[in-house]
Amino acid sequence: MKLGLSRRELLASTGAALGAVIVTGTASRTTLGAEGKTGPRWGIAVDIARCGNQSGCRACIDACHAAHRVPQIEDARHQVKWVWKEAFARVFPEQTHGWETDAHQQAPVLVLCNHCAKSPCTKVCPTGATWRRSDGVVAMDEHRCIGCRYCMAACPYEARSFNWVDPHPSPNPGNYPARTAGVVEKCNLCVERIDNGQIPLCVETCTGTGAGALTFGNLEDASSPLRRLLATRQVLRRRPALGTEPRIFYLV
Ligand code: SF4
Repeated sequence: MKLGLSRRELLASTGAALGAVIVTGTASRTTLGAEGKTGPRWGIAVDIARCGNQSGCRACIDACHAAHRVPQIEDARHQVKWVWKEAFARVFPEQTHGWETDAHQQAPVLVLCNHCAKSPCTKVCPTGATWRRSDGVVAMDEHRCIGCRYCMAACPYEARSFNWVDPHPSPNPGNYPARTAGVVEKCNLCVERIDNGQIPLCVETCTGTGAGALTFGNLEDASSPLRRLLATRQVLRRRPALGTEPRIFYLV
């Protein structure tokens, strides 16, 4: 599915940033951490009930992990995750009160990198391997990562994974570059698709019985479906007290 993005919006979100890198070299990469004042800011809304009612559905997870060559590793200590499901009580600990049923506490909630507007992970990276783009996407260049894992320690959502295995036993020889042992990775909001005018694959593949549980859009556009949802539904964000300002929103 193609995004309804104008060429101007795409240029605003990516072209200027890429141009800065090309013109001034790698030293400019860290300057991308400062978000621009114009252009789109991408976000996703997750309808908790619509997604959670399909607890066995893995359509978006499987599509994402296949496209990005995320390996299936049995050993939980070494697992690499871009999109996955966590129990409600772990995702929203401040929303539990002790009177709910176990089923409610354990209800699966889809989680991924929150592409935080105030991302602590990008502040601690010593090499500029992770940064916030002008469109708000928290990007990752695994080739610049030295595996210090400061970003993993800084992320309060456990949204980053360390590659312990080399070579990656990827089940999928897709086009996305494989990573090596010793680097950190995470969801990239499908920047390779956004930059091509497409929506993230998890959103596009949410077509099962829970279809429409994910909505992607421009937070700067008041008429976007995402903004309309955020204006009319009750919304949770993960650990709001931390001030990271996630751009993944949960509709209740
Ligand atoms: Fe960084 Fe974690 Fe926020 Fe993603 S969820 S932007 S990895 S702090």
